[in-house]
Amino acid sequence: MAEKKKFTREDWKTLVDSFRYQKTRPDPSSKYWDEKIETVSRDELRHIQETKLKALVRYLNDNSPWYQRHFKKAGFQPGDLKGLQDLPKLPLTTKEDWSQNQMEKPPFGDFHCVSPQEWAEDGWMLYSTGGTTAKPRFFTFTLHDRDIWAWAWARAFWSFGLRPGTVFFNTSVYGPFPGMWGSQYGAHLMRCPIIPGGGMDSRRRLFFIKETNVTCVIGVPSYVLHLGQVAKSEHGIDPAKDTKVTDLVTMAEPGPCVPSSKQRIEAAWGGARLHDIVGHTECFPIPLGWSCAEENAARGRPMRDHLSEDIGIVEIVDPETFEPVPPGTRGVLVVTNLWSEGIPALRYLMGDYMVYSSEPCSCGRTFAQADGGLQGRADHTLRVRGVWIIPGAVEEVVRGFNELDDEFQIVADSVGDRERVTIRVEPRPEIARAAWPELQKRLSTEFRFVLGLGVDVELCEAGVLPRFQRGDLDAKAVRVKDLRSKPAS
Ligand SMILES: [Zn+2]
Repeated sequence: MAEKKKFTREDWKTLVDSFRYQKTRPDPSSKYWDEKIETVSRDELRHIQETKLKALVRYLNDNSPWYQRHFKKAGFQPGDLKGLQDLPKLPLTTKEDWSQNQMEKPPFGDFHCVSPQEWAEDGWMLYSTGGTTAKPRFFTFTLHDRDIWAWAWARAFWSFGLRPGTVFFNTSVYGPFPGMWGSQYGAHLMRCPIIPGGGMDSRRRLFFIKETNVTCVIGVPSYVLHLGQVAKSEHGIDPAKDTKVTDLVTMAEPGPCVPSSKQRIEAAWGGARLHDIVGHTECFPIPLGWSCAEENAARGRPMRDHLSEDIGIVEIVDPETFEPVPPGTRGVLVVTNLWSEGIPALRYLMGDYMVYSSEPCSCGRTFAQADGGLQGRADHTLRVRGVWIIPGAVEEVVRGFNELDDEFQIVADSVGDRERVTIRVEPRPEIARAAWPELQKRLSTEFRFVLGLGVDVELCEAGVLPRFQRGDLDAKAVRVKDLRSKPAS
């Protein structure tokens, strides 16, 4: 029997590009960047996902030695996949899989679909993970991947309501962190200027924002909040009066989808609109989710993020059994990447909590949404006495108390056999000591109500808790400390 023809990089790129209809900037009057795909019918969307998924398993099998072995070990052959319904039968890919593969076959491992030589000849850039807890992992992206990044970011920017004339300023240090590079290329594709303000202190950043008429500030929510606050208190710049900032785009923390944080961040910037982008360094370093302008106006409930279902498949699974959970139920996110030439991940266990919402959105986009965005990473989430403690829920309570400053820390430890959770917060300096006991009591009651678990509340002196002032993208882990000798599973 004749060998089936190899599914090549060219075949894969051609297929991916055939579902990108609007590759360059549309007319500014257009509501959508790529109307045809953003308003596609759900049936057609399912067909697109199915077509790409079938091609993806062939592409992986024919071009990634690691996936070839991974499939073989699971007894799976690309022809076994008949449709989307078969996806949950495929093996998961985990962070540990790729990490181990890179250790065994340094420097890149062999899970990529381009060899080191091909990447050297047709590559774009190399990205790595933060490496705070393990050896940094490397990811090789190609020029084709760069085009997709730019397109996906421009589409999200457009959906926020941003148009030509926007002047962007990114407060983050890009380094080898992928997310923010996408903002740079997305702005280029919109033909909007962007100022990379990573290597500056707050004073200098504010000077640039004011003097160059920046209209949109990009960064990590906690830093963007901090910058807005010190503008007035320390640098004599009132964002509402002295700058032209109307929009804020943040990622890497739940902030924008936490109503009390959103309100606090927008207020610090004189009522600018705060937009959310979510993604993942390893499996989806471009907008997997983003909030549309209509969602931005939602009040009194957490904002939703549209999911890039044309270029990714989202599954929500139970964190222990990995079985699919029904829509509307909280579970852990598994993502299949339907766009990358260099590293398309299949069923990657992303590890963030999410609730899938099929509620239609008034913006007309047919992509489903993540209710409340990403709700914290499972490995930054504590399970104490059988209850999950989600940092976003703690943040919601903390930012809802006007007496408190923005930072908080969640500490779990053991006292004898008992597991204990302490939530550390900072009352604002103007709150008198005499008022602390009453504040502590109200916080305890609120945390018990929201978390469903009794916790200790520790009020700290102003400035004691760690702050993230350098736009550090890897800072979110610092808010959760697990000091238990053997964390309960
Ligand atoms: Zn929408």
